[in-house]
Amino acid sequence: MRIAVIGSGTSAIGFLYHLLKTHPEYEVDIFERGLEPARRAAEGESILYGFGGAGTFSDGKLSLSPQIGGEVADYIGYESFKKYLPECLELWTLGFDRKALERSDLSEGPRVWDIKRAFNENRMDLTLGEFIHVGTDNLATVIQRLYSLLSSHKSFHFHFSTPIKDYSHADTAVIDETGRSYGPYDQVILAVGRSGSVLLNRILELSGADFTSNTVDLGVRFEMPAILTDEITQILYEFKVSYITAQDDKVRTFCVNPRGYVVREDGSDFSLVNGHSYTHQKSDLTNFAILVTHKFTEPFKDSFEYASSIARLANKLAGSGKILVQRYKDFKALRRSTNSKMQKSFVVPSLKGATPGDLNLILPRRTAADIEEFIEQLSRVIPGANNPDNLLYGIEAKFYSTKPDFDQWFRIKGAPIRIIGDASGYSRGIVQATISGIALAETIGL
Ligand SMILES: Cc1cc2nc3c(=O)[nH]c(=O)nc-3n(C[C@H](O)[C@H](O)[C@H](O)COP(=O)(O)OP(=O)(O)OC[C@H]3O[C@@H](n4cnc5c(N)ncnc54)[C@H](O)[C@@H]3O)c2cc1C
Repeated sequence: MRIAVIGSGTSAIGFLYHLLKTHPEYEVDIFERGLEPARRAAEGESILYGFGGAGTFSDGKLSLSPQIGGEVADYIGYESFKKYLPECLELWTLGFDRKALERSDLSEGPRVWDIKRAFNENRMDLTLGEFIHVGTDNLATVIQRLYSLLSSHKSFHFHFSTPIKDYSHADTAVIDETGRSYGPYDQVILAVGRSGSVLLNRILELSGADFTSNTVDLGVRFEMPAILTDEITQILYEFKVSYITAQDDKVRTFCVNPRGYVVREDGSDFSLVNGHSYTHQKSDLTNFAILVTHKFTEPFKDSFEYASSIARLANKLAGSGKILVQRYKDFKALRRSTNSKMQKSFVVPSLKGATPGDLNLILPRRTAADIEEFIEQLSRVIPGANNPDNLLYGIEAKFYSTKPDFDQWFRIKGAPIRIIGDASGYSRGIVQATISGIALAETIGL
């Protein structure tokens, strides 16, 4: 069998890792717009493109719960999810002693329930889920090991710096940016994540599917002294909290990085803010996203366009730094943070080069009000969350992909193409993206 895999990110790695065990004889061409790991690291390539995909420079937080990071278990079944989870963990901790890695500790029963009760008493919901934290530094080593393993297999052929632009239904071939055609293939697998939305939309267009998503989570990355969050993060590692504001909007925390670093995430069209944490390098600050859910109905429902326009505006105002940073005190007072004001702040930004500015010039009034209300509410459980010196960075956004209709296992209606990972709309994190790849590899030859 000849297979084309487009993308060499998280879900593609899950697919190839499992295929190596079940069907090592299959000939597979892997097309990747970015670079292999060593060059990717050396050349400071984009945070999203290259072997490992968005996962490579990520924080490496592996959520073990089928309820967190997507709905893959709803699609493949909870039994299958449980069956593939050990292989997924084996892969993402390759060569490391898993027991030595940081993890959430839900075994501290009464203390966990005390924390949950404190949030509930303040009308906030805390989602508890188990996870392992590989860390950005260890993850880079794992990625290198995975690449050595997969690229040394004689029937896996990697094509780097080869963005795929189109698909030809007539001869089941894929076509790169220069117009060169590869194929024919028995199977074409799209594993392009969120960064491959142009190709995904093109393919969904060919199949006649509806592909706009009407929901986006938009907000800021928040940074505060770690000493104020340690009591919670030392037990839970992260706190996934959601809250309904006075205007009935849902606000949530996402991707908490205890003693971590805020980072800039450059896409091809705009830059967003995100956060990391390392196993061996710690800051004195904790960062997390505060996101407000925006859902559109009629006549406008292109949530990607909405959030990306706001991000582009923030990038313009920030100049070459692309990301704005503001003290909470200034955010509340609707005034700009400046370099001199920032120098008086006790919280020194972990992201160097962000431009002091005013996020109120960017965020819609309702979104800004929701964020302020959330921070005040959070401070009832985490005293000091509303300290004037805490920092907001913008913009952070999480896009929801639509789930295309599948007529066969991961296969879209109207085109013989299978979609795995975040592009399928079923995953939003490393574990679920990987498991979708493993699940496809298990069945692809049947
Ligand atoms: C900064 C950051 C931090 C994150 N941290 C975590 C975390 O701690 N824990 C967690 O569970 N999840 C995390 N995530 C999410 C996680 O990384 C993704 O859910 C996961 O990587 C999705 O896997 P994927 O295979 O669908 O896509 P990706 O891993 O993004 O892979 C897609 C690949 O396709 C390639 N590609 C795109 N278009 C084309 C094209 N046209 N032709 C050829 N190649 C193409 C891209 O270059 C990329 O390599 C993070 C994401 C980001 C951005």
